[in-house]
Amino acid sequence: MSNPRIPRPFFCGNWKLWGTLSDSVALATGVRDAVASVTTADVAVAPGFVALDAVAGKLKGSAVAVASQDGYWEEKGAFTGEVAMVQIADCGASYAIVGHSERRQYFGETDETVARKAKAALAAGLVPILCIGETLPERDAGQALTVVGKQLDGTTANLRDDELAKSVIAYEPVWAIGTGRVATPAQAQEVHALIRSKLVHKLQARAQQVRILYGGSVKPNNVAELMKEKDIDGALVGGASLTVDSFASIVQKGVAACTRS
Ligand code: PEP
Repeated sequence: MSNPRIPRPFFCGNWKLWGTLSDSVALATGVRDAVASVTTADVAVAPGFVALDAVAGKLKGSAVAVASQDGYWEEKGAFTGEVAMVQIADCGASYAIVGHSERRQYFGETDETVARKAKAALAAGLVPILCIGETLPERDAGQALTVVGKQLDGTTANLRDDELAKSVIAYEPVWAIGTGRVATPAQAQEVHALIRSKLVHKLQARAQQVRILYGGSVKPNNVAELMKEKDIDGALVGGASLTVDSFASIVQKGVAACTRS
């Protein structure tokens, strides 16, 4: 007999800059139907902002939750172009991705701004999915653990323990995002173990409940090996979340691989 894994696995598709409104609704509906029988994991999709409301409407009452890809910390005011966490929650989203490496690389995000966004997400009733990860030069210089540890400290500095305990951490090595070059399970586990140990230091036993996702070229053919690792609790999936078949297959194979017997 198999026991459900603790923490409950979580798979989130990050659609990035993709799709029309009708593309987004169709993909969300397809994912909803394809994973309807999955009862031992949480699943979410992160459409673009303009599709957030429509996708949340289609997924309401289903097992698939909605995440935003970003969000701003102020609730209102003269911040042209920004979308507040409270507006995201009002659309029916449950999660907000913050600090994705593409936001850091192209839009000047820093650990400090990511920390403010995570805090605002929690205040709005959203669960932040906090992204951290090293670049290739940093890994090649042997600095992966130092860089990730510093990012974790910086992005969670202003969270209370109860806020940190309900957050999701996504380890996404920058060199593996969208490159087809996935971290080996051992490479990913080494960093996840560091993240877990830092969480244990702050949260003691509650740290075991925090989901630590791996992200970076996760596909149906590599998710099982990753999910067998002790501290890998799910995946943040970019490219392979853009078709129903491949994302549903990642969820199903991921769930099957991590169910303990
Ligand atoms: C991502 O965008 O978070 C990501 C992991 O992308 P990909 O799966 O395409 O590498």
